[in-house]
Formats: sequence, C-alpha cells, structure tokens
Amino acid sequence: MKTISIKTNKRCDMVDITREVNECVKESGIISGIVHIFIPHTTAGVSINENVDPDVKRDVLYAMERAVPNSGFRHIEGNSDAHTKAQMTGFSLNVFVEDAKLMLGTWQSVYFYEYDGPRARKVFVKIVKSED
Ligand code: ZN
Repeated sequence: MKTISIKTNKRCDMVDITREVNECVKESGIISGIVHIFIPHTTAGVSINENVDPDVKRDVLYAMERAVPNSGFRHIEGNSDAHTKAQMTGFSLNVFVEDAKLMLGTWQSVYFYEYDGPRARKVFVKIVKSED
C-alpha cells in the first residue's frame, strides 16, 4: 500500500490528486489492474469531478455548503456539517488502470474533498494487478 500526504489550506476544498495517484501506479510497475483509493478520515472524502473549469470546484463546494449548513447539530466538536458532507462524498474510489495509466475520462480528475481543514491528511492507495 502507498500513502499520499496532503496539506489542505482551507476549511473546505477540492484537491486534485490525479497526478499523485498516477505516480503510485507508475511506481508499482503494473500495466493493467485496479487502483483502490481510501480516505482514513471522517471529515474528508474522495470522488471524481471535472478538471477544466475552476468554477465547477467553486460551485460544487458552494452547493455542499447550501445543502448542509452547519446549524442545528449536537456534536460537541461543531463539525457535523463536515461529517455529513464527507459521508455524501464517500471514503473510497476504484479506478481501472490500463497501459499503466488511470482510465479516467477526458474531463475527469480524482479529487480529495476537504470539509474540515486546514489539516494534514492521508490518502491510502492500493494497486491490484489483473491479468486481462
Ligand atoms: Zn467531529
């Protein structure tokens, strides 16, 4: 297993980790297989989104903020909005690997979603070789 370390700078952010995940694939030497990405945190997540127009990032975070305002919660830490947004985003992702590269669509990137930063975060990456 490989670990990607991330330092986030804002409370909520989307960090493109495609290059780092591709590095893990390259280091592993596999040509074909699956990359499992896992987030070992409860206020951050992982998913795929568009990597061209920076307004998409802004709009997604804005929509999350509107969908889950941080009010009316009981959790003493005061970050139940972050726990909820992380739950909505998900904590794991699988991407196929072919020709030693992630099989992402043209406009797709793998994003780490921070909802309670700034923090030092980790992303676990497990690369599994396949024969076909
Ligand atoms: Zn909490």
